[in-house]
Amino acid sequence: MTLLEVRDLTVTYGNGAAAVRGVDLSLEAGRKLGIAGESGCGKSTLALALLRLLPPGTRVGGEILLDGEDVLTMKWGQVRAVRWAGASIVFQGAMHSLNPVHRVGDQITEPILLHGRATPAAAKKRTGELLEQVGLPVARSRAYPHELSGGQRQRVMIAMALACDPRLVIADEPTTALDVMIQAQILRLIEQLVAEQELGLIMISHDLAVLADTCDRLAVMYAGRVVEEGPARTVYEDALHPYGNALSAAFPRIGDPASRFAPRGLAGDPPDPSDLPSGCSFHPRCPVALDECATEDQTLRDAGRGRRAACVHVEPAIPGPATAAEDARSTT
Ligand code: ADP
Repeated sequence: MTLLEVRDLTVTYGNGAAAVRGVDLSLEAGRKLGIAGESGCGKSTLALALLRLLPPGTRVGGEILLDGEDVLTMKWGQVRAVRWAGASIVFQGAMHSLNPVHRVGDQITEPILLHGRATPAAAKKRTGELLEQVGLPVARSRAYPHELSGGQRQRVMIAMALACDPRLVIADEPTTALDVMIQAQILRLIEQLVAEQELGLIMISHDLAVLADTCDRLAVMYAGRVVEEGPARTVYEDALHPYGNALSAAFPRIGDPASRFAPRGLAGDPPDPSDLPSGCSFHPRCPVALDECATEDQTLRDAGRGRRAACVHVEPAIPGPATAAEDARSTT
């Protein structure tokens, strides 16, 4: 069974901001899905919606099936059980998420005890195992957050996220606050844990290169929608949607002099979700927009080879035996 199936998810904040607009996603156990997009495109809102962590007054529609059960219609008791034990989140900037006055070991033990998973002695033992798993000496469990480096604190956050053996881990910009060397270490650690424990991983980042390196598939979000989705490397190297292209071009590639001498970017900002442009919401910034893009909205279309994109320039794939075989290969 598919681990996570998101169908037509919409999130509108109390102030009318349509932050997520009709998102469909799916993820199998043991697979890694990256979600990319500039700041303000709805990535964190999507992540928070998955665990019903949005503020009161927010309207959420659609379905979020975790192991076949809809998180949106669950009773609160069940939602509490799902948080940590079903799915857990690693946020960016561990210093803000860890309690500064509690030892990190106690903070890892707490959810294990809260979810009735173990006796205090067994929970303490499990905490030691988790610290070892994330590459920290057990003795660090007695440290306070300020006594650890940024990378060590992020390892503690990952240990906390794994404490109740979740099936799905959502990592929201897990390495953005870290320097490049530590970032690489943490990414390899996440990859290793996902593979060893057959977890599903959703990793959110504005950095397409990091996602292409870590994830199997990539979804690019713009103005609350997924505008492109497909195999991670292909989307990064050869995006079909002009927004995916611009995002990918914004990160210089090592060894590519063209990107060094002519850094390409995208002028302007994503639109305010309370005041979206007509037609395709990317059209005011799009370098290849046609007249019709100002009036005609674009939805994701199947572009073949396991790829989907929402752009007037993308030719829909013609279904046939060859395409079906290619799709099967590219999604496994
Ligand atoms: P991202 O993670 O891609 O940076 P967010 O999900 O944080 O994007 O934000 C998407 C949009 O929703 C932004 O325009 C943001 O201002 C708006 N937004 C986020 N949180 C709230 C909130 N609590 N109330 C109203 N608008 C919000």
